Amino acid sequence: MTASLDDLERTLAFAEIALGQIRSLRHRAVPRNYEIWYVYATGYNPALNRVINETLARNGRLNDDDLDQIHDSYLSQTRVTDRIDQVGARVIGEIDDVMTLINDAINITVDFNASLAGAGKQLAGVHNPSALKTIVENLIKTTREVHDTNKALEARLLFSRSEVSVLQQSLEAIRAESLTDPLTALGNRKYFDRALGTAIESAHKRGEPLSLMMLDIDHFKSFNDNYGHLTGDQVLRLVGMSLKQTIKGQDITARYGGEEFAVVLPNTPLRQALTVADHIRRAVMSKELKKKSTGEILGRVTISVGVAMLTHSDDMDSLIGRADACLYAAKRNGRNRVICEVDPEYQSEITFQVA
Ligand code: GH3
Ligand code: MG
Ligand code: MG
Repeated sequence: MTASLDDLERTLAFAEIALGQIRSLRHRAVPRNYEIWYVYATGYNPALNRVINETLARNGRLNDDDLDQIHDSYLSQTRVTDRIDQVGARVIGEIDDVMTLINDAINITVDFNASLAGAGKQLAGVHNPSALKTIVENLIKTTREVHDTNKALEARLLFSRSEVSVLQQSLEAIRAESLTDPLTALGNRKYFDRALGTAIESAHKRGEPLSLMMLDIDHFKSFNDNYGHLTGDQVLRLVGMSLKQTIKGQDITARYGGEEFAVVLPNTPLRQALTVADHIRRAVMSKELKKKSTGEILGRVTISVGVAMLTHSDDMDSLIGRADACLYAAKRNGRNRVICEVDPEYQSEITFQVA
């Protein structure tokens, strides 16, 4: 396949811009940096351009840690789609090959049946030993051909079986990646929706309690405004890490959206969920945030948490809505706290909203 002249000119122009940036900012000309600057030059990834422009405006440069973080957060994810395409193409290729083999095998069987039938007819009219010898020789020859073809088919199918199992593993890895938030390595929203749906169904069926917490970083916008989006991303990782360290067993953690997280606690009544929520709140607060690039201490992060327990009439949306309402009450009542529906702060919130 040859590129059109336009395409060639365009990609060369992007490459030149990328190399120009690498030279002028004195970055190493390694593939990771080239990819960042090439994508920057194309403008196809506005979030990447925004974070680069903002960091340059703020710090006048991008160091190696910044480039690492930008690559992890804004580029690794796009690979999933490319990999799905590649694996998809290999699956289609494999299916085509196997279909051709099956067709060949069918044709050979049909031919073999025809020659058997022919031989049967000839045998009925045979009168001398030499004619009989020719018929038998032909039969042996065709049988050997069929045998050889079957051997080849068997070898090719064995190869195909191992190829399909490699493709299955690749698809499994892609599937896991497509359900993971690249920044925090927690489950993403899609994962959360599926996991919560399954957990609710099973809680209803078994009559077990289930609690849900929604968490939101306090004053996150000011972190972004004061220290830039890359530091904001570091705050998100810190909260993600605190969640992973505190949550165990069958509990499900996910990044719900921007700076909101969710934890599903199957087989957990409200009181127990509140204890877990407070552990998480304390774990986040206990960590001091240090700016990776300069070592500067930026202070502590706090989170607000809303907790709700599943009722008989709840579905996914109503449960999320009630946990969210508690989270909102936690925000209005001073942040850095855990609120559930039986708390007076929540009750006064409801009264406040109705009034
Ligand atoms: P509150 O205590 O009321 O929650 O205040 P807040 O500042 O945390 O809330 P607000 O909703 O005003 O701001 C959320 C900000 O989160 C705005 C948005 O730019 C930022 N944000 C969302 N996703 C990301 C992300 O992936 N990375 C970074 N750095 N910022 C993000
Ligand atoms: Mg928010
Ligand atoms: Mg917030």
